[in-house]
Amino acid sequence: MDRKDNEKTGKNFRIAIIGSGAGGILAAIKLYQAGVGEITVFEKASDLGGTWRDNTYPGLVCDIPSHLYRFSFAPNPDWSRTFSPGSEIYSYLRRVAEKYNVEEMIRYNNEVIRLEYYEGRWRLETNQGDQGGFDVVISAVGILHHPVYPDIEGLDSFEGDCFHSARWDHNVSYEGKRIGIIGTGSTAVQITSAIIDDVEKLSLFQRTPQWVLAAPNDFYSQEQKANYRENPEEMTSVYNSLAQTLNQGFAAAVVGQNDEALAIIQQGCQQNLDDNIQDAELKARLTPNYSAGCKRLVVSDQFYPAVSKQNAELVTDSITRIEAKGICTADGRRHELDVLVLATGFDPHRFLADAEVIGGDGQTLNQAWARGNYAYKTVCVPDFPNLFFLGGPNSPIGNFSYLLTAETQFAYVEKLISLIRHGKLKEVNPKSGITQEFNTNLKKEMKGTVWVSGCQSWYFDHFGNVASWPWTFDKFEQELSEPDLSDFQN
Ligand code: NAP
Repeated sequence: MDRKDNEKTGKNFRIAIIGSGAGGILAAIKLYQAGVGEITVFEKASDLGGTWRDNTYPGLVCDIPSHLYRFSFAPNPDWSRTFSPGSEIYSYLRRVAEKYNVEEMIRYNNEVIRLEYYEGRWRLETNQGDQGGFDVVISAVGILHHPVYPDIEGLDSFEGDCFHSARWDHNVSYEGKRIGIIGTGSTAVQITSAIIDDVEKLSLFQRTPQWVLAAPNDFYSQEQKANYRENPEEMTSVYNSLAQTLNQGFAAAVVGQNDEALAIIQQGCQQNLDDNIQDAELKARLTPNYSAGCKRLVVSDQFYPAVSKQNAELVTDSITRIEAKGICTADGRRHELDVLVLATGFDPHRFLADAEVIGGDGQTLNQAWARGNYAYKTVCVPDFPNLFFLGGPNSPIGNFSYLLTAETQFAYVEKLISLIRHGKLKEVNPKSGITQEFNTNLKKEMKGTVWVSGCQSWYFDHFGNVASWPWTFDKFEQELSEPDLSDFQN
């Protein structure tokens, strides 16, 4: 790529990207390739990679198949396994970023703290000071970013080592120790499976059981990798087949469009439990009372064998408080611990919440979203012109490839940016009536999804809004195929 060529064609058009995770890297590469002016990526940390930078806990594996979890323009023949370890995904993102010179565009240690729209431009301020005006701002801040710490009495009084799973302290050894893990989501399940053989005792504090689907994580052979390298079209067909299975099967099942697939998932989870847990009492405690897919489905063929081991204890009596030496539960027991891991998840509803974002009419984004966040087709918000979201409100989340979602959103956003650059729209500002109609339909559609079928999960915000996309993935691609100019202010 010739950077000079790009600068010639796109001068005087400044774009800010917030976040250098997968979405930010994607946007930077694509905009650069399109020759769209000056691109700056503001990253609050000192490294790129987003959630794949932050999460380094033992056992971290992405449960989206490797060949689906990649950018379409950067297929990777070298994935080691069906489901990639987190460190491999981090390395992949770094490699892609290096190949396309993304790091040249990143300003590390720059947390965006203020954005104000004034006369067609966004004035952007970071913790390092005023960064000037930008024609377009793209938020790629991610949803698995703000750790949730449990509000449990005495948490601060624990005298052992204690950290959130997304802040794993690698200076702390867990070998031969008594470990407590709070939570039973994907993270806790993976950590439990990874460390059980190394610890003296593992106490897993479960508030709610999860459905767990078994999927073997096979290694790719050298021959398979060589074949993918030599015949990239084979990777494309693997990708297409995985996308078809996931989008037509799982994605359609959870939004009430494929009951047969949902039944198969439910049976698969039950089978996993039946095959691996013989103890009737333990099985009862591990059996959820809601449908598979209601909470984000957990994928693991190792969890049940791990939790059945002699040195594992599934604690289902509720936690009453935490003391210096361990956790007390409602049955009066004190579980003594050396290390406590908080696998208590993330708050996915806080897009840009820590920044003051002042829109065209003087209202802040936090005010606009006081009763829950919403967007026009997941990517932009009325009265916040030329501000775009990748992975924004109601993006397809859960058991989807975020990279696939972000590419779909970005292709649409790029078209909108092009309309501004070519003078077809003065600014991209979705009409509020149209946005309201979109969100009314979205809420109506949500009623048919498995997420609202009777469980609590991180998909819900404080007002009962569900964070995900309630239609099929096909509909997502359709909605974002071409901008409808009549939906925007002119
Ligand atoms: P999570 O799914 O939100 O699970 C959090 C767990 O902590 C739940 O079991 C929750 O119990 C429990 N918890 C929270 N507060 C608690 C409290 N005060 N007392 C007792 N228990 C409490 O979080 P996660 O496992 O980190 O996963 C988050 C998301 O990250 C996943 O759903 C997935 O999207 C992504 N992820 C993906 C992978 C992967 O690709 N393999 C791996 C890890 C994470 P309740 O169920 O009762 O609320």
